[in-house]
Order: sequence, then C-alpha cells, then structure tokens
Amino acid sequence: EVEQLSVRFGGSRLRRRKPIIHAVNGVSFQLDRGETLALVGESGSGKSTTARAALRLLRATSGTIRWLGRDVTTLTGSQLREHRRHVQMVFQDPYSSLDPSMTIDEIVAEPLYVHTKLDRAGRRDRVVQVLEMAGLSAQYLGRYPQEFSGGQRQRVAIARALATDPEVIIADEAVSALDVSTRNQILNLMKDLQAESGVSYLFISHDLGVVGHLAHRVAVMYLGSIVEEGSTARVFGAPAHPYTEALLKSVPSTSLTQQGTGRFRLAGEPPDPSRPPTGCPFHGRCAKAIDICSVEMPSPRPVPGGGTAACHLVPVTAAAQPATAGG
Ligand code: SF4
Ligand code: MG
Repeated sequence: EVEQLSVRFGGSRLRRRKPIIHAVNGVSFQLDRGETLALVGESGSGKSTTARAALRLLRATSGTIRWLGRDVTTLTGSQLREHRRHVQMVFQDPYSSLDPSMTIDEIVAEPLYVHTKLDRAGRRDRVVQVLEMAGLSAQYLGRYPQEFSGGQRQRVAIARALATDPEVIIADEAVSALDVSTRNQILNLMKDLQAESGVSYLFISHDLGVVGHLAHRVAVMYLGSIVEEGSTARVFGAPAHPYTEALLKSVPSTSLTQQGTGRFRLAGEPPDPSRPPTGCPFHGRCAKAIDICSVEMPSPRPVPGGGTAACHLVPVTAAAQPATAGG
C-alpha cells in the first residue's frame, strides 16, 4: 500500500544548482496478492519512478509505504536488503539488461547469491527449476545471452526474476521491444506464472493494447500523478478522465497484431516536470477544460463502475467525502 508518495530529483543538493524535478506527486495505490496493476501513461509521466519508489528500490521524498501491513518506508541496511528480496524487476531491453560476459546459469543464479544461503548444488537446482518455469530447458545453462533471441532473453530475465520466489515483479516495458508473436508468448507466460505462483505484477507500459490483455486494474499517470484508476474493464470501457479518453483514442485497435512500438501520439507535449503548472496538470492539452481547471488541482473522485478520476468534470458525490473527518 502506497500513500501520498512523492519523489523529487535535483535541487540544491548538487553543487551546480539544478531545477527540482517533480517526478512523482502524491501517488496512492494498493497492489493485492496475485494481482496485476498496470501503470500507464506517456514516457516521462513518472511510471518507473513510482514503481521503484513504491518497492523501495529508490528513496521517496515523502509518503508512506506499507508491505503486508508493516511500514517499510524508512527501512535501511540489512532490513532493506531483506525486504528487497520480495521484489524483482524485468526491464524493457533484453539486449542490454543481461550481462554479456555471464552465462545463463550465472545470470539466473545471481539473486540467489545475494538473497539466499543456498549452496552450489541448491542454486543449480533452483536455476534449472526457474528456467523450466520460464519455458527454457537446462541445456542452455552454459550459454551466453548473445546466443539467444529477444524472446528467449526475456525468458531468461523472467527466470532470474523468479529465482528468489518474489511476491512482486515490476515489469517495466518488459514486452515493448519484442515482436508481436514473441510478445504474446511472454504475456501468456507471465499470466501462467501468476496463476501458478500468485505473484503480483506492477506492469509498466505505454501500450494500452498490451495492458488490456494482462492487467486486472489500471492506474493512468500524467505528470507524476495518478489521474484515473479502476478495473481494466471499467477504465477501458468507460474512461472518466479526458486524458484516459485521449490515450484510448490514440491506440490503434490492432495494437496486439502489429509491431506496436509507437508512442502515444497526443496533441501537444506534457508540461515540464521541473515547472509543473497550477491547477489540473492536463489543462494545457485538455479539450474539455473549464475556468477552474487552470486554478485548482482536482482531487480523485469515485466514478460509476468503480475506481477514481481526478477531474473537475466528475461530480463530487456523497461517497467522495471521507466517512469520518480527519482521516
Ligand atoms: Fe480537463 Fe479540467 Fe478535467 Fe483537467 S480537470 S482533465 S483540464 S476537464
Ligand atoms: Mg520508464
């Protein structure tokens, strides 16, 4: 559970004063066991930073992070190392994320050195086991990443992520660099692994077509804030935020059958995160903006069908008011 998470970069800590980047602004969400939550949005919207900060892979500037009810916001040292065992990552580029000087078994065994006390034989057994879970046979053990295709490399990355039996895997654009049929194979593999192990995914993607096939819930990010959140069916079927609507319109309907590597093509550019605008962060690009939008930041409001949207056009209902004052 993440509450009011914010991350700032830069500022006066550096000798040459740099602008403060407001990368993440007051983000709150919850990820359940066995669930896939997608963070979607244009590049630079703070998706990766949110995921890394939420799972304590980088330090948040403010906010609270709870893991199974326990506050892990300020863990350090060995406690933080122990906590990180629960979280693994799969990155976008299977060509640069695997060390070319290491063999497949060394790559997959690496987190086992860091996080477990398994001996050599125990590590080897586990490596074979997770390679098989990822659909690769033990015959690949002594080979190097450059002998493999992109899809096979991503299977190796997934095997490595599975090695310590994590509760959460962050998949950061993990299928974005793959061709369509390979991408679908990897998505199916991820679904199967989730059904088997109950692992949760924080699935970061700019590709809504892919998200629709994997995620249970979607959080749409814009300029470091979650502007809409809800079940995938509700958000895709009845988007309540003008930004989500624009995103959905920018997705080719054939997204899963084409080499869909294109970024969102929306009119205008997102604002500079070192100089965030007043009011709604989307107001400069929003076709529906009204006077209040450039002045007042809309807070998240419940929408019909579940979830929330932070937009002045969504009526504030009785349900939007906190049940008890002071929280
Ligand atoms: Fe558009 Fe205003 Fe809603 Fe922001 S608050 S999305 S500017 S209508
Ligand atoms: Mg990113």
